[in-house]
Amino acid sequence: MKVCFLGSDIFRGSVYGRGHPLNIARVWPVIDICHALGWIEAGEYQPIAPAEPHALHLFHTPDYVSALLEAEEYQKISDTKMQRHRIGLDSNPIFPQVYSRPATAAAASMHGAQLLLAGQMQTVFNPSGGTHHGMPDRANGFCFVNDPALAILTLIQGGAGRVAYIDIDAHHADGVEAHLSTDPRIRLWSVHEENRWPRTGKPADKGGGQARNFTLPRGADDSALLEIVNLHILPDVEQFDPEFIILQAGCDGLLDDPQSGLAYSNHGYWRAAEQILGIERPTLVLGGGGYNPFTTARAWSGLWGLIKKKNPYQTRANSEVRKILSSLEWQHRRARHIPEQWTGQLFDETG
Ligand SMILES: [Zn+2]
Repeated sequence: MKVCFLGSDIFRGSVYGRGHPLNIARVWPVIDICHALGWIEAGEYQPIAPAEPHALHLFHTPDYVSALLEAEEYQKISDTKMQRHRIGLDSNPIFPQVYSRPATAAAASMHGAQLLLAGQMQTVFNPSGGTHHGMPDRANGFCFVNDPALAILTLIQGGAGRVAYIDIDAHHADGVEAHLSTDPRIRLWSVHEENRWPRTGKPADKGGGQARNFTLPRGADDSALLEIVNLHILPDVEQFDPEFIILQAGCDGLLDDPQSGLAYSNHGYWRAAEQILGIERPTLVLGGGGYNPFTTARAWSGLWGLIKKKNPYQTRANSEVRKILSSLEWQHRRARHIPEQWTGQLFDETG
C-alpha cells in the first residue's frame, strides 16, 4: 500500500486577512499532528512548489491566471479586471500569496493525479486542495484555483477512462459541476446542505448529465450522511466502476463548524471517507471547507490516519499534539470556551 502526503510550508505563513473565515491555520496543524503521532513515515511527506502559470490553463483562462499573478505582484488590480475575475471582491481578498498559495494546492492535486496515473501511489492526501468553487475565469467562494477540476482533467488527459469525483463538503461543488459534468468519462457526486450557498446542486440537478446531487437539511447528523453515502453514492460509484477516485473531504459539515448548519460528528465524517476508500481504487483525497481550526485539524489528521490504517476513533492527543492544538488561534465567539475534546483527542465525544 503506497500512500503519500503532499504539503508545503507556504501554508504556514500565509493568511487571507483579518476577519476572513479562512484566516485560520488549516494545513500545517495537520502536517504537524500527523508527524507528532508518528503517522508519517520516512519519504511519505512530499513538499510541493507552486504550479507554473501555464499548468493552470488546463482549466483556467490565461487572462484569469495573469490577473492572479498581477494581484500577487502588485497587491491590487485594475477595476475592470477585479469586476471580471472577482479578485479582491466578494470573499476573495487579495493577500500576499494570492497566486502562489492556491497554485501550490493545485500543483499538489495535479501531482497527486500524476502519481496515481503512473501507478506509483494507491492513495494521495492533499489537505490543501478541494477548492471546488473556483471558476475558469473568476474566483468564487474563497476559491481562486479549482484544484479538483485540474486533478480530474489531469487524469483524463493522462488517459483515464472513468474518473469518479465524490464531494462530502457542506457546500455544492458548483465550479466542478458547471464545467466538468458533460463528459461521460467523469461522474460527480456531491452531498451538501440544502439552501446553503451557492444554492446550486438541487437533488434533480444532473448538471451536464454526469452530476448526482444529494441534499441534507439543517441539523442532519452522521446517520443521514451515511445513509446517502451507503445507499445512494456507493452503489452508483461501484456501478460506474471508476479507474480513479477523487474524494473532496471538506469538513465544514461538522457540528462545530460555523459555515454550515449540518451536524456531523467526526465519526460519521470518517466513516463516510472510509466507505469511499474501501472501494479500493487509486484515490486522491483532498481537503476543502473547514472553518473551525480545531475541528478541521482533528478531522483531517484522522483522515490521514484512516489512509494509514490507524484508528483515529480512539486516538488521544499526546503532549506534542495537545501543544499543537492548544496553540491554534481562532477569533470566533465559539472559541470563547474551548471544549476539552478540541485539544485532548482526535475524536468527538458522541451520544
Ligand atoms: Zn464548504
